[in-house]
Amino acid sequence: MTEQNMPGTFDVIIIGGGPGGYVAAIRAAQLGLKTACIDMFTGKDGKPAPGGTCLNVGCIPSKALLDSSKYFHHVGHEFADHGISVKSLTVDIPKMIARKDGIVKKLTGGVTQLFKGNRVEFFHGRGRLLAGKQVEFTPADGTPAISLQAGSVILASGSVPIAIPNVTFDGEFIVDNAGALDFTSVPRRLGVIGAGVIGLELGSVWSRLGAEVVLLEALEGFLPTADITISQHAAREFAKQGLKFHFGTLVKGANVVKKEVLVTLEDKQGESQLTFDKLLVAVGRKPYTDGLLSPDSGVRLTDRGQIEVDGQSRTSVPGVWAVGDCVRGPMLAHKASEEGIAVVEQIAGKPAHICFDTVPWVIYTEPEIAWVGKTEQELKKAGVNYRSGSFPFAANGRALASGNSAGLVKMLADAETDEILGVHIVGASASELIAECVVAMEFHGSSEDLARIVHAHPTLSEAVHEAALHVDGRAIHRGN
Ligand code: FAD
Ligand code: AMP
Repeated sequence: MTEQNMPGTFDVIIIGGGPGGYVAAIRAAQLGLKTACIDMFTGKDGKPAPGGTCLNVGCIPSKALLDSSKYFHHVGHEFADHGISVKSLTVDIPKMIARKDGIVKKLTGGVTQLFKGNRVEFFHGRGRLLAGKQVEFTPADGTPAISLQAGSVILASGSVPIAIPNVTFDGEFIVDNAGALDFTSVPRRLGVIGAGVIGLELGSVWSRLGAEVVLLEALEGFLPTADITISQHAAREFAKQGLKFHFGTLVKGANVVKKEVLVTLEDKQGESQLTFDKLLVAVGRKPYTDGLLSPDSGVRLTDRGQIEVDGQSRTSVPGVWAVGDCVRGPMLAHKASEEGIAVVEQIAGKPAHICFDTVPWVIYTEPEIAWVGKTEQELKKAGVNYRSGSFPFAANGRALASGNSAGLVKMLADAETDEILGVHIVGASASELIAECVVAMEFHGSSEDLARIVHAHPTLSEAVHEAALHVDGRAIHRGN
């Protein structure tokens, strides 16, 4: 028996089964490596639920509720324009939540099946890295811990919500993302601390279902990493939908009194209080490394609590790697997955590379927001000479036909070489439209490349085409 064939000995052990960890595990097994994945997430049914934050309490359940609430909102507010009237509209929140839970279960069950199909050995419970690439596994079912030995270890432990001082999560009135994905009825007044991606998405869900939603944001504006044209446009659209923003507002504390949440805040006017039925804290996420590393593991953390890695995801210990939300870079599922794949390919002796400059960002509000590459403010700050083109969806036939005329596409290209430097979209299906722009940028394409490519008519993608034409001042369907 070779060493690697011994029970409890693996080529690769991955701690964490989110999009960073489970995708890495499947790819490792495809490459012929004897692979184990340890994940401690337990589903609502008490069964193992690999898939991490993304599948259980993040990307997927939020999108399920965003779609359900979008349909409800459209029937109530937009169908009349199409000549469709509905006499009495009701919503069954427990059924909506049950549908979301069903999707989560299907997908986490799918990961379990993929592990079986690819011969990834799955361990449900906690993993802890010891010295010498040994991993202690503590089963979730309470049976005694065992020791596993790895040739390489990948840490993919993800992230958890940040709490703020004097605002304590109680899972009922003061909640994080998981709580806001599980309300059993529509809160009359929902306070959201933080107008970032999660606050905007989950705030939109409950606003569309009838809640009065107030977002309390410390900054004077929102989405500072998005292009300024896009965030300003989005702010106007969200305000039209009834989302209320209090910018420049710092939350100092919150208390639950007689089933209401009293929030103390401070803004230019001084200190004041607001009352809500529920409060969602969405001020960001932090890397999760509790109990992950024994003191002698040798893995270093940064002063921000991230696992320290180099550009290739190597930690301070040879043979130990880390990917996803627990390391530097954007906290995005697709970034985690691609890092996981790149690490495993390096372990298998293959060349691997990720272009972090072309990782797309998406916010699934309505209209959606998506971008890739540099913003106009970044280019200005760096002194780059660029040209800009844009096109409003209000001048796109398909957008008008479907009633999705809000928003625009903005393209930024190098003034001398015409290479595309960034594309920013606010509008329907921005999440899908951005893919073409990512491909163009990966191939170092120019705005002229996109301008000369035939785009189907009538489609929303024609707005990308027109923005590319507009970089050169020759858009067809707008005054240039
Ligand atoms: P995670 O998904 O957090 O997975 C880590 C896993 O490791 C978890 O299951 C955890 O329980 C387990 N674990 C941790 N420590 C241990 C241990 N010691 N032993 C065993 N198991 C352990 N991103 C997008 O790209 N698109 C979106 O639309 C999107 N929407 C989001 C919506 C919400 C509400 C939230 C909260 C996040 C969203 N994200 C989205 C972010 C996305 O979920 C994360 O970037 C992604 O899940 C990170 O993947 P990961 O594998 O690094 O970590
Ligand atoms: P994101 O990083 O996209 O999850 O967004 C989190 C948002 O929360 C950012 O816009 C922060 O400015 C905001 N934020 C952080 N702390 C506070 C606070 N104490 N009060 C209000 N907003 C906050």
